[in-house]
Amino acid sequence: MPHPNDPKLRSFIDVAPTSDFPIQNLPYGVFSAKDGLAPRVGVAIGDHVLDLWQLAQDCRIDLVEPAVFAAGSLNPFMALGPQVWSRTRARISELLRHDHPELRDNDKLRQRALVPMADVTLHMPFTVAGYTDFYSSREHATNVGVMFRGKDNALQPNWLHMPIGYNGRASTVVVSGTGIRRPRGQLKPPAADLPSFGPCKRLDFELEMGVVVGQASPMGEMLTEAQAEAMIFGFVILNDWSARDIQQWEYVPLGPFQGKAFGTSISPWVVTREALEPFRLHGPAQEPEPLAYLKQASANNYDVELDVALRAPGMNEAKSICRTNFKYMYWSSVQQLVHHASSGCAMNIGDLLGSGTISGPEKSQRGSLLEISWNGSEPVELAAGVKRTFLEDGDSLVMRGWCQGDGYRIGFGEVEGTILAAE
Ligand code: MN
Repeated sequence: MPHPNDPKLRSFIDVAPTSDFPIQNLPYGVFSAKDGLAPRVGVAIGDHVLDLWQLAQDCRIDLVEPAVFAAGSLNPFMALGPQVWSRTRARISELLRHDHPELRDNDKLRQRALVPMADVTLHMPFTVAGYTDFYSSREHATNVGVMFRGKDNALQPNWLHMPIGYNGRASTVVVSGTGIRRPRGQLKPPAADLPSFGPCKRLDFELEMGVVVGQASPMGEMLTEAQAEAMIFGFVILNDWSARDIQQWEYVPLGPFQGKAFGTSISPWVVTREALEPFRLHGPAQEPEPLAYLKQASANNYDVELDVALRAPGMNEAKSICRTNFKYMYWSSVQQLVHHASSGCAMNIGDLLGSGTISGPEKSQRGSLLEISWNGSEPVELAAGVKRTFLEDGDSLVMRGWCQGDGYRIGFGEVEGTILAAE
């Protein structure tokens, strides 16, 4: 049987070369259709969703009970472990191949199991057990450090020695398309003597990738590089919405709190680690050498093109304001997971790890408005007469990501969020 990542594979379903979802991808999500059935697990293929619950009920997927796909969340499937993830993906690939008649020639099953993407609602793909956000782009950390502490103290002394992170809120992680209410909080502009409470005036996004942890690790135990990698089920695009004014007043000494707690958006399709395998590469050289427990032997970065576009009210289409790549990250997702567990912290099925804002070396590769507008001093022009330093009510922000193969792409779809006025 050919490997599901084989670039030569074709599906009996037509998939355009620019589609995010060719047969080599097969990302998992949770959808509902117009049939009134409860949300269930599906796989994206071209402009369709393949209903895994229907296939399992028809005994087409062994190893997995149909109830697992009826759960309305990927967590029960993830709990089955990496071998089942891999074998299930191979079986789905086989069922969708142009030269495999089993589903292709079964009209009844095909009608039940293939739903046009236009007819589905996509839901949160998994139940978020815990959400941790990192700060692992050297370019982003340097830009922010230069703005707030000056060029000579841009990176904090600990930054080159470990992936810096904070524990965020799982309760407000939402799926693409969910409106984001402008947060309120304590604000104290530098010139004010005392803080006041009111709507955030410096609302920002952060372009990130999210790691979906698919296996647990026990409290008290560390992880090796190989163990950490095997626990990663897949990746999503993640927008870590940030209230810069709330954050600036509250963040010393314990880090971000309310400035980040009001919303985090993710893309609805989880692209598996296995589908990204052909796009692995080594990250930037790490100097000084990390401590022994953090050293990595493998190429743990991925070549994922990323685009951020912003549409203000009245604009017909979104304007791209950032184009960068996941490959620039200094600390890899595997190192983040190893470090996360290093104290003895237990990891859970459904944990979500934000990579940290992804900025590249060029000005056009800055992954937040804080950097793009250089702390509000350089507004970005979206259209004639429309400029932004931070986000305004009604603004819609779209992030997209994809790995470019030869004649196909492994895409993530998009994560969109529109800013709603404060209540
Ligand atoms: Mn962040």
